[in-house]
Amino acid sequence: MVESTVENPASAFRNLEDSPIIKCIGNTPLLEIKMFESEFPDVEVYAKAEWFNPGGSVKDRPALFMVKDGLESGRLRPGKILLDSTSGNTGIAYAMIGAALGIPVRLVLPANASDERKATLKGYGADIVLSDPLEGSDGAQRLAAKMHREEPEKYFLPCQYDNPANPLAHVETTASEILEQTGGRVEHFIAGLGTTGTLVGTARGLKERKPDVVVHAVMPSESFHGLEGMKHIPTAIRPGIYDESAHDHLIPAGTEESYDLADRIAKEEGLFIGHSAGAALVGVREVAKQIEKGVIVTLFPDGGDRYLSEARQEA
Ligand code: PMP
Repeated sequence: MVESTVENPASAFRNLEDSPIIKCIGNTPLLEIKMFESEFPDVEVYAKAEWFNPGGSVKDRPALFMVKDGLESGRLRPGKILLDSTSGNTGIAYAMIGAALGIPVRLVLPANASDERKATLKGYGADIVLSDPLEGSDGAQRLAAKMHREEPEKYFLPCQYDNPANPLAHVETTASEILEQTGGRVEHFIAGLGTTGTLVGTARGLKERKPDVVVHAVMPSESFHGLEGMKHIPTAIRPGIYDESAHDHLIPAGTEESYDLADRIAKEEGLFIGHSAGAALVGVREVAKQIEKGVIVTLFPDGGDRYLSEARQEA
């Protein structure tokens, strides 16, 4: 079901370089995290605060790279609609970038996505197509692919799960920023797995320039979980961009412990982070326990204000 209708005018898109809001993507702060200080005094922990991106999440970075790649390759051109499946943050990023550049955007999301999420997308003028809530993000992915197959001329489908521009955004921006902001001191990098773009791209970018960085991927411990944006890879559609060799270790994170750490850091340090950022903290605690000394960098994909209308879910 399409809830509103964007047009696909043949008029030219606006120039990327002329958009003030797009210039604000990336270069997020690297914050020192104190919550494990008393337990592990010789471990330094830092986190990229990705909710400082103008669309409110890390997904502004890959969305911009995928749009740029579409424009440069000619696959995205006036007359086409940008179509993709997204449970949330990538959709908001596409919708914001689309609005800034005059690109019509249509997004497929599971019908049970939160009302505030749908309202945000509509606020930017994007169309919403609802997929079967029981099929989750995999169902949204299948429906977007079907729509594209049926009308390939109408749509540009970046397909964030399979698009190399997704990890490339992190090779070129996230990894460089981390190296610069730590003065090259980063020893361990920890990030959650969703499309896997953040983990795979940042790991590649870090290891290219500092091969001894140890990379830890955090994954929901169960197939059914409450960590929006993350995937339990063994039971989900495997993202085409996923590269297992990008991480040295895999850390499972439970929903409850992730929510607990996200709650705690908001109250103790004033960092109101999302649930997947809580999962990243589960990974940090685990690595800190193992290494006892060193410099850990993680990434908080979005803020807790994204999840206000969602009840705390049981794992
Ligand atoms: N957390 C949140 C809140 C997200 O929106 C995403 C993106 N799906 C992720 C984690 C995982 O990031 P990536 O897709 O780069 O693996």
